[in-house]
Amino acid sequence: MQIPQHYSAVPGVLQDKVILVTGAGDGIGRTAAMTFAQYGATVILLGKTTNKLTAVYDEIVAAGYPEPAIVPLDLKGATKKHYQDMAATIQAEFGRLDGLLHNAGLLGVLTPFEHIDLPTWQDIMQVNVTAPMLMTQALLPVLKQSAHPSVVFTSSGVGRKGRAFWGPYAVSKFATEGLMQILADELDQTSLRVNCINPGATRTSMRAKAYPGEDAQKLKTPADLMWLYLYLMSDDSIGVTGQSLDAQPK
Ligand code: NDP
Repeated sequence: MQIPQHYSAVPGVLQDKVILVTGAGDGIGRTAAMTFAQYGATVILLGKTTNKLTAVYDEIVAAGYPEPAIVPLDLKGATKKHYQDMAATIQAEFGRLDGLLHNAGLLGVLTPFEHIDLPTWQDIMQVNVTAPMLMTQALLPVLKQSAHPSVVFTSSGVGRKGRAFWGPYAVSKFATEGLMQILADELDQTSLRVNCINPGATRTSMRAKAYPGEDAQKLKTPADLMWLYLYLMSDDSIGVTGQSLDAQPK
């Protein structure tokens, strides 16, 4: 299957799809949720800070896009039961889930290996790896109700090649790539596709935290990346699975 270097989505390409976006209140996730709604999807907005989710909800409704749903959830404290309850609610409300974008992420602090502390390590693994694993596990039955479900994980350049001082965040992104590959391989004979997006340097608060001295105006914005998010959520990517793709191809 040829994977495009760019993609122009036609209006309504996500019509009637139900897509859950984690970290939908800010940064790339906020733009992804708005964009999916703009292209016709009913979006389930999951995030930690309720008022950020409400603001996205209001913006989607004001634009006249399909009415979204809100799931306030802190991935740091969420348990298997939270995800099972969420899956049951999605099943009852929508009868299926067509797309799942694992976007929420925690950077922590950049630090030499010798100074990595266990609580920070555990928080990052919890939010970036354990939460998406448990959530995907709980949502698989409802994803399988869709004809062509798509699961997208969010990786990073430091999840493909280690870099000094990126410690737990980088390890969590290597784990994300592994999770995606294992799941894609297990589901190879099904219609469920699983892929990773590496957004590349993008103008968000996470990037500003990692590179405080940088001129953010020189960076791509979340909107610049949306072609790949739309592609992977649309039926145009049916058959593409197990891939780790760059939203800013070289
Ligand atoms: P932001 O920090 O701007 O946004 C992160 C989002 O994740 C926020 O909506 C935040 O919610 C949510 N989140 C964080 N912790 C939790 C939690 N415990 N429970 C629920 N939600 C949580 O990051 P970006 O938009 O930049 O990053 C999005 C993804 O892209 C991440 O996975 C990141 O690792 C990845 N990435 C980003 C790059 C970049 O240059 N920006 C480069 C490579 C990868 P809240 O606002 O409520 O805290």
